[in-house]
Amino acid sequence: MRKEFADALSRIARGEEPDKASLVILLSAQPGEEEEALYREADTLRAQYVGDEVHLRGVIEFSNHCRRLCHYCGLRAENKNLRRYRMKKEEIVESARRALELGYGTVVLQSGEDTWYSAEMLAEIIAVIKGMGLAVTLCVGERAREEYALWREAGADRYLLKHETANPRLYQKLHPGMSWEERITCLQWLRELGYQVGSGNIVGLPGQTLEDLAEDLLLLRSLEVEMAGIGPFIPHPNTPLGTYPAGSLDLTYRVLAVARLVLPWAHLPATTAVGTLSPNGRQLALQRGANVVMPNLTPRQYRADYQIYPGKICINEGPEDCRYCLEGMIRSLGRRVGRGPGHSLRYLSRITKN
Ligand code: SAH
Repeated sequence: MRKEFADALSRIARGEEPDKASLVILLSAQPGEEEEALYREADTLRAQYVGDEVHLRGVIEFSNHCRRLCHYCGLRAENKNLRRYRMKKEEIVESARRALELGYGTVVLQSGEDTWYSAEMLAEIIAVIKGMGLAVTLCVGERAREEYALWREAGADRYLLKHETANPRLYQKLHPGMSWEERITCLQWLRELGYQVGSGNIVGLPGQTLEDLAEDLLLLRSLEVEMAGIGPFIPHPNTPLGTYPAGSLDLTYRVLAVARLVLPWAHLPATTAVGTLSPNGRQLALQRGANVVMPNLTPRQYRADYQIYPGKICINEGPEDCRYCLEGMIRSLGRRVGRGPGHSLRYLSRITKN
């Protein structure tokens, strides 16, 4: 093991304020001793800070319409080869009811950026689902501050808005018509409005460097996110990045493990994208820092069309299949399924302080 690696690992794992150079060294962990030591530290901190419970967040992908043109995403407005769908209010509520029956504490309402759903419509849906006793996470992209405020008043608990990359130039290239500063502003609004905030980044984007990934982690730390979604880039053929190679799975695990060191309190999902690149991807992620899995609750007839990237797992399964498959996965790792809403410790300490 390189001495500089061992030094950086022990300093950062002890909770010393991370600097970019040390994070780059950790992210460049070599296969063998270095990676093993990194994963061991991440797993230890995971157990210490967030315990052995693995929280299940049922995701309802309620619309694949999108007004954006993100260069990596299959939902982009210019992809004409996608059958577009929108779930009705009743269908969304019905899916949430399935979540309750399956014992989930939280549903995640996710979609492309689809302004067909007015703020009021979504607020009504949120209120009904909250009334069932479920926690609600939203993941519907950038909207006006007042809309975020309305949803918060309707009862939404959390909001996921990945910053995608902390490199503003790379962000600009991949998101025509969008601005990195505006995305960060949205994250600040969400924080001010009292949401538990989730963000995160894609790993292995064309042109992305280890320095960029170190910046992603520093940004997540400065935002004090309650959750960080970190997944590999997967090329979608009907997008401008369709011919680029997928992000490396090993690099994704390293970013995840270092995220656990610098955000020890955070909920870190073993992402569907990791599971898509490798059959045991999510198991390995859970052993390298992750403590959340996001089972798909989208009704079977829509699943294949929520194609942010191709080959997404579980598109032929129904909601109950995912529930039992994941429970088995979690048990086989000697962990247990989390009960209740699974709010983050950071959030609970924030609200008791105020
Ligand atoms: N419109 C919502 C939800 C987007 S889909 C929003 O803006 O938040 C959820 C996430 O999927 C995105 O944040 C992005 O990080 C990820 N994603 C999209 N296309 C991808 C691809 N080709 N490879 C890997 N991740 C992708």
